[in-house]
Order: sequence, then C-alpha cells, then structure tokens
Amino acid sequence: MTNQRGLLIVLSGPSGVGKGTVRAAIFNEKDVDYVYSVSATTRNMREGEVDGKDYYFVSHEEFEQLIEDDQLLEYAEYVGNYYGTPLNKINETLEAGYDVFLEIEVQGALKVRERMPEGIFIFLAPPNLSELEDRIVNRGTDSHGVIMERMQKAVEEIEMMQHYDYVVVNDEVPNAVKKVNAIIESEHLKVDRVVDKIQAQIHEYFQEGA
Ligand code: 5GP
Repeated sequence: MTNQRGLLIVLSGPSGVGKGTVRAAIFNEKDVDYVYSVSATTRNMREGEVDGKDYYFVSHEEFEQLIEDDQLLEYAEYVGNYYGTPLNKINETLEAGYDVFLEIEVQGALKVRERMPEGIFIFLAPPNLSELEDRIVNRGTDSHGVIMERMQKAVEEIEMMQHYDYVVVNDEVPNAVKKVNAIIESEHLKVDRVVDKIQAQIHEYFQEGA
C-alpha cells in the first residue's frame, strides 16, 4: 500500500444512460481497488437494496440536517428526492491512498468539480438519442409529454459533457467498464503521480552508494 493520496473518480452522465449498471459491473469484478462512496437519499428503498451499501436511506428531515451541518460534498434534488455525497469518509479514504468512486447525476458532478477540481470526471454517454429514449420509455409508464421532457433534460445534460475530462460511450456495459478502468489506470501513471516516488528512489540509491 502506497501512502500517496488516492484518486477521486466521478462517474456521471444523463439520466437513463446506465450509470448504475456500469458502476455495479465495476464493483462486481474481482479485486476492485476503488472504494465506493455510498450516497444518502430520501427516496424509498427498492427491492434488493441494502441500507448502508446501496444508499443511506434517510428522512427528509435527516437529509436537511446533513445539509445544514455541511456534511455533504454535494447534493441534488432528482425526481422529487434528495441525493447527496457524505463528506466524512472521502478525505480520510483518499488520504489512506485509496481511490474513491462516486456515481452521481450531472448537477452534483459539476458541484464536485468546483470543490475538488483534482478529481477525474468521466461522462457516460448514450450511443445515440433513440437508444436513450428506448431506455427512458422502458423504465416506466410515462406519458409522451413526460418522455419528451426527460429527453429534453437528457439533451441539456449531454451538453454538460464539455466540463468533464473523459467521455465513455455506453454501447455495451463490458466495453464501458473496460474503458473506465483503463482511464483510472492511466491516471495513476501520470508523471505528476509517480515522479516523487522515483525521485525518492534516486535519492536513496545515491545515499546508500555514498
Ligand atoms: P436512483 O434513484 O436510480 O438510484 O438514482 C437516481 C440518480 O441519482 C442517478 O442518476 C444517480 O447517479 C444519482 N445519484 C445517486 N447518488 C447521488 C448523489 O450522492 N448525488 C447526486 N447528485 N446524485 C446521485
């Protein structure tokens, strides 16, 4: 284990693009080194979800208390519910050298970018708009008007792509997973991240040889 600070990885993208599926596939792999940042939400628990693992399920009052106590890195209101990233473990985990992985919607990601610009911001994009529409339609029983509203919102969100560092097209989940992992791997190889370690080795070599 290195004591170099870990990376903050933010996976985000428009509603319906499959962020949750890609995130689940990444964390279902063996030997995952990233620590998932469990969000707090006021929405109801879905079947199969576990409190503290998928989300911290809290009441509206509890969530508003978290906001008031400045306990959230960011939060957003999404389809009538609050979602937010608890601050407490993030810095601690990064300091311990572990990468922290957030999967959040676009507004929240832009707020994280303001507060932690050193993060790696990955935008998950739909292969095309008709596929996104299919996913939105297949999700529920929304009327044509609501679907059009969601598509309009999704297009606005897609335009936010320019504020990110990378774009991964979610054509097939395994492809997207591979690309996200590859991005993180190359970020770890950036000169800025390895230079101190190599300089220390050089220093040590000459000290020992002297
Ligand atoms: P769901 O209700 O389907 O689990 O999530 C709805 C949306 O909320 C998804 O787009 C998900 O990425 C986003 N989300 C989950 N946790 C957070 C969070 O902590 N902050 C923000 N801003 N969005 C979140």
